[in-house]
Order: sequence, then structure tokens, then C-alpha cells
Amino acid sequence: MKRGTGKGGTGNAGSDKGGIALERIHRLFELAREEAPKNAERSRAYVELARKVSSRNRQRIPQNLKHSFCKKCNSLLLPRNSKSRVKGKWLNVTCLKCGATKRIWLGKGDISAICA
Ligand SMILES: [Zn+2]
Repeated sequence: MKRGTGKGGTGNAGSDKGGIALERIHRLFELAREEAPKNAERSRAYVELARKVSSRNRQRIPQNLKHSFCKKCNSLLLPRNSKSRVKGKWLNVTCLKCGATKRIWLGKGDISAICA
């Protein structure tokens, strides 16, 4: 038996919340991308929210999205606020906002998703 989360009531603890969470995450990243050039703070708020939705629903953020933001400051990593350097089979991405770096394995060849 699973333990319920919080108190009951009108909560819709439906069976397909995973799908809804995933949809939400996609939508939030879309919004974050739209806001990024205009309002960096709001863009970060969307990413933060997407991460919250992800952890609350135990829904993993898809890998291509996961690679597109800074884990430390929640900024979307765009060419203007990040630096990418390919090192062998790895892509090193530095967030110019907080200085965090991440390494992305390029073995699978999904670099186009990152540099888009
Ligand atoms: Zn950062």
C-alpha cells in the first residue's frame, strides 16, 4: 500500500497524473523558452516550477529538456548565457550566470537538441 500524500478532499489523485505532469513539464519549458529572451527571471521561475512538478509527481524531466537548463540556477542554457565546448565525446556547458558547468555525453549524438 502506498501512503497517501497530504489530506484528502477534492484532490484528484487520478491514475494518469504522470502523463499530465509530463505535459505540464513540457509546457513550462516552452514558456521558459519563450520568456528567456525577454524576462530571464520569469524564465527561471518556469524552470523551477517544472522541476517541482517533476519531483512532486515523480515524473522525470526528459533528457533533452534536462540538458537545456542549469541545475544550479535554473536558467535555460542558451547560446547567449552559456558557453559550450566539445571535449572528445563530451560537451562541457558553462552557465555564464552562476558559473556552474555540466557535462553532456555526446555519444548518442543528440547535440542538435542542445544547440538548437
Ligand atoms: Zn547557472
